[in-house]
Amino acid sequence: MNIILLGPPGAGKGTQARFLVEERDMMQLSTGDMLRAARTSGTEMGKKVAAVMDAGKLVTDEIVIGLIEEQLTTAKAPGGFIFDGFPRTLAQADALTALMQKVGKKLDTVVEMRVDDAALVERITGRYTCGTCGEGYHDTLKVPAKEGVCDNCGGTEFKRRADDNEESLKTRLMAYYKETSPLIGYYYAKGQLQSIDGLGDIDEVKAAIAGALDTVS
Ligand code: AMP
Repeated sequence: MNIILLGPPGAGKGTQARFLVEERDMMQLSTGDMLRAARTSGTEMGKKVAAVMDAGKLVTDEIVIGLIEEQLTTAKAPGGFIFDGFPRTLAQADALTALMQKVGKKLDTVVEMRVDDAALVERITGRYTCGTCGEGYHDTLKVPAKEGVCDNCGGTEFKRRADDNEESLKTRLMAYYKETSPLIGYYYAKGQLQSIDGLGDIDEVKAAIAGALDTVS
């Protein structure tokens, strides 16, 4: 099954994608993660996109479509792909349709995760991850059982994203409403959209996504 998780920054797409990877053998294709990896490894492209990302703006369609094309043509995903943070513009959505056709795959469903803006600000400004395994935490909503030690792997290094601050979040939210939210109508018109409440706790949202996927499996 190939799916898109659609929603504003902080909706919980990455958290839920990790569950689907563990439980359904799916592969998460997060363009945000790919771009951050390019920055860390210091590639030319990584250097080019760094300032744009920190400001909370979108990088060019050409770059992210190239990243997705590379994965779709080389990666093996027995349980299918989860598109997380892609597509973010109508041009990217059209490119994804064409790419899927090219590799002989189809998009099964798009799950829109609905969350209100006040919750997003709280979620984003307090979140951080384990530097070793990537497990997600939050200053108040999810703290490790033992302070400073990752519940999942015992790691003691944690990191926060450079763009998880209020200033850049404003730009990211505006980019979502201007450029990405039209995709809700686009996939609705294609008969592929399912909307779930992303405001509940992690397990409730997980169950809602499972319910949405059951309707197409
Ligand atoms: P994310 O991890 O999905 O929140 O993405 C972090 C940042 O990477 C975004 O604020 C953008 O600057 C950039 N980015 C990630 N995915 C895309 C995309 N599909 N199109 C354009 N920019 C993207």
